[in-house]
Amino acid sequence: MAERIVIVGAGQAGLAAAAKLRQEKFEGAITLLGAEGVLPYQRPPLSKAYLLGKLEAERLSLRTSDFYQQQQIDIRPNLPALSIDRTAKTVATRDECLRYDHLILATGSRPIRLPARMTDGVDGIFYLRSKADADSLRPFLRNGVRILVVGGGYVGLEVAAASRQVGAAVTVVEMAPRILNRVAAEPTASYFRNLHRSQGVEIREGIGLTGLKAHGAAVLAALEDGSSLSIDAVVVGIGVQPDTALAREAGLEADGGIVVDGFGRTSDPSIWAAGDCATFLHDGEMTRLESVPHAIDQAEHVSRNILGAAISYRPRPWFWSDQYATKLQIAGLNRGYDRTTVTPGATEGSMTVSYLDGDRLLAVDCLNDARSFMQAKRRLGL
Ligand SMILES: Cc1cc2nc3c(=O)[nH]c(=O)nc-3n(C[C@H](O)[C@H](O)[C@H](O)COP(=O)(O)OP(=O)(O)OC[C@H]3O[C@@H](n4cnc5c(N)ncnc54)[C@H](O)[C@@H]3O)c2cc1C
Repeated sequence: MAERIVIVGAGQAGLAAAAKLRQEKFEGAITLLGAEGVLPYQRPPLSKAYLLGKLEAERLSLRTSDFYQQQQIDIRPNLPALSIDRTAKTVATRDECLRYDHLILATGSRPIRLPARMTDGVDGIFYLRSKADADSLRPFLRNGVRILVVGGGYVGLEVAAASRQVGAAVTVVEMAPRILNRVAAEPTASYFRNLHRSQGVEIREGIGLTGLKAHGAAVLAALEDGSSLSIDAVVVGIGVQPDTALAREAGLEADGGIVVDGFGRTSDPSIWAAGDCATFLHDGEMTRLESVPHAIDQAEHVSRNILGAAISYRPRPWFWSDQYATKLQIAGLNRGYDRTTVTPGATEGSMTVSYLDGDRLLAVDCLNDARSFMQAKRRLGL
């Protein structure tokens, strides 16, 4: 049995891996390295309740410090891994070199940033990945302030909803032909477009941002159609990229994520990866999922395999998004569908969008319809 396991990334997956190792009675040393200086916390509220000031910072934490002590998990929230020496089986940090028998990479992902030529010399540009990001954005969001949200994906739309709820004037620009272009079908996009417009958000689709310029205390945003907007702050939500730097520098296979096999193992048999940073073969396609349930499942799966379970990973994809009073719950993966159907739910404003390949159900988007979501999960075997 392994004696010493080092986990890089004190986030959702890193914590789940550590906790599972102990739950499965692993008695060796576990070190959990973090880069944010805080104990592992939940990210979803950062663009929802926490951004609205409806959730206290302490309630973001996934576990209190007692848990790490009781479980003998040596957590170092402010000790980033700097490099991996695969021959010596060590991880270098600024303080010391840590030896491992198994190493788990749970480094997550980072927001894609606007090119520097677009943002140089401009203040008031925000990204939203970490608690620190949310803490800097929160004071900006208040009545009357003008916010431009760049990107109509889930994070962008949640920020738009939160900003609107505190009385900000909000414009969303989406470069793709429509919002949620990458992740949902038109009926779901249409639901959210109508919802946001009914709340007073301006949504402009098929228009990219071309530049930002400081203009006194304000920011001037130039758009592809030649128009410009004067705003107070810009929130950029144009997607994330997996954090593969450490893995690549160590010579591990990485291609749109750290490549892992069905067991969660990288191209080095002593190194494993899970969560946002990992990509794996699923239904014949390399797949990378960005969700809390997947981060937990895959990390727990890795821990069990390190301890000898030898089980191949089968994801059970599901996800949620909260915007105003609407709850969206997604089950399954909607790729490869040839049609969608829309079924109204029992209450006003509830509906389910089903993604089908022939008669086979691939995925659903359930809007304010928890019952339909539970049924679909069962049908999809999730
Ligand atoms: C604003 C927001 C809203 C979201 N909403 C939802 C939602 O509603 N539902 C849902 O399912 N998912 C949601 N997600 C996605 C979800 O939070 C992620 O999929 C999940 O956190 C991934 O877990 P992870 O452990 O892979 O990565 P993370 O939780 O990001 O953890 C990775 C950690 O590794 C650390 N790290 C990186 N490199 C190093 C290093 N070299 N040394 C040490 N530490 C390192 C990072 O600092 C980070 O703390 C949301 C994400 C965001 C940002």
